[in-house]
Amino acid sequence: MSTSNATPDNLMEAIVSLAKRRGFVFPSSEIYGGLNGFFDYGPLGVELKKNIRDAWWRDMVQRRDDVVGIETSIIMHPKVWQASGHVDGFTDPLVDCKVSKQRYRADQLFFSPVVIDGQTVAYVSALESEDTAAQLQAAAETYKRKKALQGPLAPVQPRDMTEAQPDEIARIPSPATGEPGSLTPPRAFNMMFETYVGALRDASSVSYLRPETAQGMFVDFKNVVDTGRVKLPFGIAQIGKSFRNEITPRNFIFRSREFEQMEMEYFIHEDADWAKCHQEWIEWCRRWLMSIGLPESHLSLYAHPKEKLAFYSKGTVDIMFRYPFGVQELWGIAARGNYDLGQHAQASGKPQEIFDEATKKKFVPHVIEPAVGVDRIFLAVLCAAYAEEDVTDDKGAVEKRTVLRLSPRIAPVKVAVLPLLKNKEHLVARARELYQRLQRRYAVFYDDGGAIGRRYRRQDEIGTPWCVTIDFDTVEKDGSFTLRERDSMQQRRIQEAELFALLDKHVH
Ligand code: ATP
Repeated sequence: MSTSNATPDNLMEAIVSLAKRRGFVFPSSEIYGGLNGFFDYGPLGVELKKNIRDAWWRDMVQRRDDVVGIETSIIMHPKVWQASGHVDGFTDPLVDCKVSKQRYRADQLFFSPVVIDGQTVAYVSALESEDTAAQLQAAAETYKRKKALQGPLAPVQPRDMTEAQPDEIARIPSPATGEPGSLTPPRAFNMMFETYVGALRDASSVSYLRPETAQGMFVDFKNVVDTGRVKLPFGIAQIGKSFRNEITPRNFIFRSREFEQMEMEYFIHEDADWAKCHQEWIEWCRRWLMSIGLPESHLSLYAHPKEKLAFYSKGTVDIMFRYPFGVQELWGIAARGNYDLGQHAQASGKPQEIFDEATKKKFVPHVIEPAVGVDRIFLAVLCAAYAEEDVTDDKGAVEKRTVLRLSPRIAPVKVAVLPLLKNKEHLVARARELYQRLQRRYAVFYDDGGAIGRRYRRQDEIGTPWCVTIDFDTVEKDGSFTLRERDSMQQRRIQEAELFALLDKHVH
């Protein structure tokens, strides 16, 4: 058997379709037309997501002596969000098109003057994509051709709408209508979802769905210090839902309005070498992503330029992933100084300090914060794992197979147990017995429907790393069965003890 491997050009389409077809991800409230920016995870998706979460929790919390976990409430006291700066500052710049009623994130809407013979004759616009500059250039060329203008056209100079001068805004065409004059200047749009707590609906009962889990760790800092027997440096980790009213949710589950975060606040001494600690966490996170199967070649680092950092920030580095729609942030690792604890100390009037035995002084610890979205990892994992192959069998017949090369650590199903024939009682009995023994420790799947080759393909498509087939030799000879590997498609005979050893080695 031979294979030729290919990632399809329309990888995102293929992934969205597979996710729907095989029960990984569905649009939320689909029978009512869906709700933009919200998704449901189906039977396989929920397993994959749980495995990502569990792997992170095990490595980040349970296997470390210096990190403890917590779970804080989604709705917190509104003063938390005032102190943290979210009420005033958790905004994205928004541009409206007054004609089409479309809304755009100003930093994702690009424009350029059309300069002919040194004169600006018009403007063109395009939404951010992998080839924004090329799109703007094409639009400028079309403009010149349509208006039959003469003279050399200068290369476009893309800028986003946050950089547009007031006199330019009126001349920039709306992407919805293609005409200038309808775009508003950018204004700050707060992305927190508001709600009311209690029976009264007035200003005093306004609360927020949390836009990040991190503030829970800061607000509970003293509780953990006083009860957790922790000593600097130490971390507090949390996994949970966050909510952001994103202006333009897009790229499937990459940017949604309800999503899940895995965040950790690593508290260090005020005099500690924060830069070294920051570097160590960046490397830890990168290695962890590789440990769940993301290829190193798809990962890169992006250091935020100093001038774009918040005033208190010492540095932020994002681990970027090469998604089919471009290189995008997957995991942000921020050195935040002692800003957050300081803010809460001031706003609550409760000191957020630690006593230093060595100097006999109290101080507010500094923090390194690795913050990642489970859904973004989920999508990255699917993008890296998806392949379509032409498989040539021994008789020369070519067939297409879709395969998810998921790491056994996170694959939703670890092993499929397949009796060769479903009408042979002794095969079925042995298969069910093995299935039940495996089920005690692993997520396994029992399938007795259809030709064995078709059953293998079904498992390939959902990323099951191994299939075992119970055949006549199993029950009539030495008890061994066929182990079929997803990636190589190779088959070999294996004993039950060997199978358990294999799983133990690769799954945990
Ligand atoms: P972006 O610039 O992409 O909006 P951010 O810098 O605002 O992201 P953070 O506030 O640092 O993101 O959040 C930490 C992590 O949470 C991100 O790295 C990402 O993995 C995840 N995340 C943030 N916003 C979303 C979202 N709308 N949908 C899914 N995941 C998200």
